[in-house]
Amino acid sequence: MPSGGEFDLIARYFSRPAPSGMLGVGDDCALLSPAQGCELAVSTDMLIEGRHFFPNTDPGLLGHKALAVNLSDLAAMGARPLACTLAISLPCIDEVWLQAFADGFHALSRESRCPLVGGDTTGGSSGVVLSITVMGEVRRHHALRRDAARAGDDIWVSGTLGAADVALRLVQGRLPPDPARLQAALPFLERPVPRLKLGRYLAGVAHAAIDISDGLLQDLGHILDASQCAAELWLDALPADPVLDGLPEDVRRDALLAGGDVYELCFTAHPRRREQIEILGRQLGLPVSRIGEIRRGSGVRVLDAGGQALTVEHQGFDHFAESV
Ligand code: ADP
Ligand code: MG
Repeated sequence: MPSGGEFDLIARYFSRPAPSGMLGVGDDCALLSPAQGCELAVSTDMLIEGRHFFPNTDPGLLGHKALAVNLSDLAAMGARPLACTLAISLPCIDEVWLQAFADGFHALSRESRCPLVGGDTTGGSSGVVLSITVMGEVRRHHALRRDAARAGDDIWVSGTLGAADVALRLVQGRLPPDPARLQAALPFLERPVPRLKLGRYLAGVAHAAIDISDGLLQDLGHILDASQCAAELWLDALPADPVLDGLPEDVRRDALLAGGDVYELCFTAHPRRREQIEILGRQLGLPVSRIGEIRRGSGVRVLDAGGQALTVEHQGFDHFAESV
């Protein structure tokens, strides 16, 4: 593949006119023109049916989420989207599924100004396999690298924490059925919003950043490892989503600290940037919370409201240890 019918599929579902100044689908390569003085930021993520999404996932939501999680990586680097590519392997040709998937994908692609400029289409896998690559631009020396945190930095997180984890627990029957809570929590799991504007504004303002895909502790841990620092986190400063209200304390704690699929940004910045970051959050209508401090040393200490250090067991989602 592709041949005959597959060229037709590409033309119908995946070819969209490229913006001017860009060569999109249809040639051997796409051509992009990053702005002068910018670095190219590139990231790829794979999504495998049965591992990263349920076989019966709504295809429109899957199209959205597959692109959203990739855009979230650009956001976490402080990059502005330029374009994306999509490689897709399909077990069979289901036009209804493809149309819905393409609609979900193209809607976010348009909204985030990240045109689809190429890809690959093949068949034969036992389930759907997707691989998306996003490309963005970020001003030289302004990228929000994981190795850029410094002792004394504040640690911040955008949005709220825990809602996607609660949705997943309810869907998987790991919490007692609660239709109202599920209805409130499900959009967080199914339609994550990449924090592209926040990321772009933080480039040159914040030091390190990461998007929370695997859980706050685990993802912050990547910043700490890369920056060779430690962190202190304040449990009562974590922005718990209202869908966590009324849940047992151990579930809340676990959802806040280790819940994945959040796609908010965790970032570090010098304390003199506090006011600027708070103003930015207000301008974007996105809460930003100061949740701890970068310290010398290694590891994360989580302090409860009384200043007692907690023992933390679940660090987050490990793709080799668990699957959906
Ligand atoms: P090649 O043989 O050069 O790999 P293909 O026949 O695989 O080209 O693809 C033809 C054109 O369609 C290329 O421009 C390719 O980037 C694009 N394309 C293929 N599959 C997809 C897809 N799923 N999404 C977007 N563009 C695609
Ligand atoms: Mg090809």
